[in-house]
Amino acid sequence: MMYKEILIRYGELSTKGRNKKDFIARLRENIRYSFSDLAPLKIRTERDRMFIETETPERQHELVTRLPKIFGIQSFSLVASAEKDMQAIKAVAHNIMAQYGDITFKVEVKRSDKTFPMDTHEIQRDLGGYLLSNFQNLSVDVKNPEVPLRVEIREDAAYIMAGIIQGAGGMPVGSNGKSLLMLSGGIDSPVAAYLMMKRGVRIEAIHFFSPPYTSQNSLEKVKDLTDLCTQFGARIRLHIIPFTEIQTLIKDRVPENISMTTTRRMMLKIADEVRKEIDALGIVTGESLGQVASQTLQSLTAINDVTSTPVLRPLLSYDKLEIIDIAKKIGTYETSILPYEDCCTIFTPANPKTKPKLEKVEYYESFTEFDELIEKAVRNRETHSFPKKVVKEDKFAALL
Ligand code: ATP
Ligand code: MG
Repeated sequence: MMYKEILIRYGELSTKGRNKKDFIARLRENIRYSFSDLAPLKIRTERDRMFIETETPERQHELVTRLPKIFGIQSFSLVASAEKDMQAIKAVAHNIMAQYGDITFKVEVKRSDKTFPMDTHEIQRDLGGYLLSNFQNLSVDVKNPEVPLRVEIREDAAYIMAGIIQGAGGMPVGSNGKSLLMLSGGIDSPVAAYLMMKRGVRIEAIHFFSPPYTSQNSLEKVKDLTDLCTQFGARIRLHIIPFTEIQTLIKDRVPENISMTTTRRMMLKIADEVRKEIDALGIVTGESLGQVASQTLQSLTAINDVTSTPVLRPLLSYDKLEIIDIAKKIGTYETSILPYEDCCTIFTPANPKTKPKLEKVEYYESFTEFDELIEKAVRNRETHSFPKKVVKEDKFAALL
């Protein structure tokens, strides 16, 4: 097997000073989580990079397939090893470069083992000359090579790598606290989950369910979406809130054109109670400015008034088409467009106010004792964990 290990570059987390150790431990744990269905990986961490042994061709394939989805990885490279002898190094470099067509390249050398008989320049010249005379399709570009061929002479062996595979970027999930995601069955909220997880936020999800107005199918769809969101590197708990009682009461007691605002306010109040119980710091929604009547700046202000908890809206400035593009890329789109109704769509009034007045909304809400119902809804919620399969914890990450 040509490649021995994979070198992982951390990217943005390497700028995080004293938190770096935690970040690296978290990334390592998340990588273990993503491969928990396979035999444990052999991972070695250093200050600025991490190494995973490839072991077998099958495992190498799995690594190359799954690593690009894990947040906190800037890029990675497959690394081959050779004996510390120029003949052996040339043979391995030859095999690696034989995979490329017409490209520009450059040999970079790092010589940690100072006992190696040639110095950095000599190795560079000898290997570069050898490759140029063996491959007609190669040319040298020292400033901006398409393929930087890197040779490291370490204590135990020489390590040789070429191609760089892009990672997902971002920060390891869990390195920036936890937030509660309001997950509908639509296109937007799973994309919001993805973007928050990319910035290192761990997610739990809350869904408002109004049977019999919303069907079991729509609930299954929300569970499927939650499960899909776990592919970005973390377990997710889904809290399902029985919402029928509150929603029908709003319909009976609050004028139709502001009932949408009240519904959203009640959802946010309930979400905030659950957030407290699970020790999350913020609430995440898939709202996008101006998308519908409940998402004008005036509506968002009236809705937001029920809490001082940060409500994070990663899609606020995105166009619907941009959101759809991301949903397709991350694989949630097909599930999101399944035609099952959401509790909000069913109760949506014909002419919701786009500029609801807070005083009016509060006035009409004041005739109904919502607090008890909110408490009851929170108490009667159902909680499910995703993914369904059991995942082993990384016992060693804590020891780093
Ligand atoms: P999505 O925004 O997920 O595509 P949508 O566009 O149908 O679905 P909107 O009516 O735009 O949903 O709702 C805006 C946001 O409010 C959602 O992104 C979600 O965060 C939250 N939300 C709406 N309905 C529910 C629900 N039934 N349960 C939990 N959160 C909800
Ligand atoms: Mg939406």
